[in-house]
Amino acid sequence: MSSTGLRLPICSSCGKPIPPFERGTSFRCPNCGEVVIWRCYKCRRLVNPYICPKCGFKGP
Ligand SMILES: [Zn+2]
Ligand SMILES: [Zn+2]
Repeated sequence: MSSTGLRLPICSSCGKPIPPFERGTSFRCPNCGEVVIWRCYKCRRLVNPYICPKCGFKGP
């Protein structure tokens, strides 16, 4: 946990925070629909896999 007070979305693929100026993408987990998955621009471009923290769904 960081104490900066700035809450950035975390990329579900690489685990890095996504800065507001970066064109990341967010969508709900296609399997359980309960978790919002974030992906940074880089991971979206590289089509890195993500894992839903709730149901464990793995997808591109
Ligand atoms: Zn990423
Ligand atoms: Zn899920």
